[in-house]
Amino acid sequence: MEKKKFDVVVLGGGPGGYPAAIRAAQHGKNVALIEAKEMGGTCLNRGCIPSKALIANSEVLAKINEAKEFGIEVKGVSFDYGQMAKKKDDIVDKIRKNLEGLIATNKIIVFRGFGHFISSTEIKVIGTDNLIVEGGKIIVATGSEPRKMAAFPFDYERIHDSTSLLALKSLPKSMVIVGGGVIGCEFASLYATLGVEITILELLPNILPMEAQVVSEALAKAFKKRGIKTETGVKVEKIERNGKGIVVKVEGDRSFPAEMALVSVGRKLNTDGIGLEKAGVLVLDNGMIQVNSKMETSIDGIYAVGDIASKWWLAHVATHQGIIAADNACGEESHMHYNAVPSVTFTHPEIATVGLSLEDALKQGFKAIVGAFPFQALGKSQATHQTEGLAQIVIDKNTGQILGAQVVGNEASALIAEMALAITNELTVECITETIHAHPTLPEAWLEAAFVAEGLPIHLPPKVKQTKS
Ligand SMILES: Cc1cc2nc3c(=O)[nH]c(=O)nc-3n(C[C@H](O)[C@H](O)[C@H](O)COP(=O)(O)OP(=O)(O)OC[C@H]3O[C@@H](n4cnc5c(N)ncnc54)[C@H](O)[C@@H]3O)c2cc1C
Repeated sequence: MEKKKFDVVVLGGGPGGYPAAIRAAQHGKNVALIEAKEMGGTCLNRGCIPSKALIANSEVLAKINEAKEFGIEVKGVSFDYGQMAKKKDDIVDKIRKNLEGLIATNKIIVFRGFGHFISSTEIKVIGTDNLIVEGGKIIVATGSEPRKMAAFPFDYERIHDSTSLLALKSLPKSMVIVGGGVIGCEFASLYATLGVEITILELLPNILPMEAQVVSEALAKAFKKRGIKTETGVKVEKIERNGKGIVVKVEGDRSFPAEMALVSVGRKLNTDGIGLEKAGVLVLDNGMIQVNSKMETSIDGIYAVGDIASKWWLAHVATHQGIIAADNACGEESHMHYNAVPSVTFTHPEIATVGLSLEDALKQGFKAIVGAFPFQALGKSQATHQTEGLAQIVIDKNTGQILGAQVVGNEASALIAEMALAITNELTVECITETIHAHPTLPEAWLEAAFVAEGLPIHLPPKVKQTKS
């Protein structure tokens, strides 16, 4: 079999792998990128982009349905989900073509096929290309895929995972979503806006169980208002197909019938079957590759990034890790830090968080306090009729340092960037109050939340002091 040698070889072309390849090429290395499926990975082809393209369509519909509040009468509104799905596919295709062009202009050699280690420096590729690729350094970025479970007999017609759901061409009337994490909640919000009757079944006591309580409670309340049914603390035992649809059976002999089910209860890491044992790379019991802050694995010269290398299953974390791994692989020392990772749930309303929640800050021993500001009291939110939710800052009372932030509401996804910058740069609450924020804008919510944290709110009434009788 033919063998080719490169300075740096990247296995997997998702948001972890391709930026690593580009960064290594920027360091002047000759680089190979091995990809078994479509370039761009889960994020571009089966995750972030297609889901957000569909959500963008549903947001337009939501706006039209709210038009009356703005004094606009819109009659005869209808939509064609098939067209929405096609538009989503076109967007993905366009981005993928641009990405492939970008990779080519960086003079990265792409091999198409499934790669597996045959030694600590060699990967055998089987597929459209068939060869052995040898790397001075190797970066593994093989990502994850939906987890299959025996209790849930996926047929991808009525019982779906997130990948097959994104490929739907028409909508069901009703859907049960098993798992109220980020993916489950995003699909619930999307399809409810498009008129699908949604029930979410979540094992833990809250939907979005990884988020701060205030956030998951706010989303649960908003979902209730929108008619999305949420059952928490329920254990799903099995899903069965019946004539017209499916029935989800939960512990306690209760059943939830619907036309379709989405199972979103976690993902399987792609660390099996890629020969990591042949390379000697240490894999933890949960399937994750053990890495240090330089993204180095247990074997010299092999790095791992993305979903397989940390608990943060987010595209932007994968990209950051990829760049850090490539810098280290090319001789420039760089470390990964996780204290300011923004995380967004693209529901209606949007949710975005970064850093510590109040609960976590207190658990970690900080004398933490919160400054919270409701959008109801913000001029811009009133002007745009989007007054739902709040922005809050968690600070260390001793030093004023910002430890975390949470926002529920319109444009939360964009708003969180200011707090990610603040936490990354160890800014204090004074840095926010000293920054002039343009008026009327949504980021003023941070200014106001910071004033609240200092006990000097401008656009909220003063706190009534409790006096002992
Ligand atoms: C429905 C959904 C929505 C999401 N939305 C968001 C979002 O809004 N924001 C966000 O930050 N994250 C989101 N995510 C998560 C995000 O997609 C992942 O965290 C991210 O894609 C992980 O990047 P990665 O590079 O580690 O792996 P992946 O994107 O999974 O890429 C891995 C690549 O490696 C290839 N590969 C695997 N094994 C081999 C092999 N042996 N040989 C060759 N190639 C191989 C795969 O084909 C794939 O292309 C979403 C995920 C899903 C499922």
